[in-house]
Amino acid sequence: MDSTATEQVLVNFPLRFANGHTIDTLVFWCVKCGKLAQDTQVFGQISRIVPHAADVRASYQCSCGHPNAYRIRLKDNKSFTWLADDVWREQLPPKPSIVTGLRRQYYRTFWSFKMKWVCFLMKRYLKRLHCSIQSHSK
Ligand SMILES: [Zn+2]
Repeated sequence: MDSTATEQVLVNFPLRFANGHTIDTLVFWCVKCGKLAQDTQVFGQISRIVPHAADVRASYQCSCGHPNAYRIRLKDNKSFTWLADDVWREQLPPKPSIVTGLRRQYYRTFWSFKMKWVCFLMKRYLKRLHCSIQSHSK
């Protein structure tokens, strides 16, 4: 382990980039047994040499005895790369999520509009009912 790797990595989160992309937290797990690491068990450091990326070096000593080491580069375009078995792997930016996000936004607008319309009809119906009750009791 590095002599500098003494800080709890997850105290640096949420991690915010200049373009507004925010990463709430990271989840680490043991690559051997799959056990999730607690926030307080992950040590390491985050370096931000360039503004659009953050390099995470972390380690987690699992209770199964396996020492896990992580190297992750988080980027402000929502992609990230990580080192696994001495190979850099890449998670590309989630393109479909923009469409999904738009669709979700559309449905939310649509539904709120529809609900307003239903409320309006209900109100009108109740008012009418109220009027008819009043005229009836006269
Ligand atoms: Zn383990």
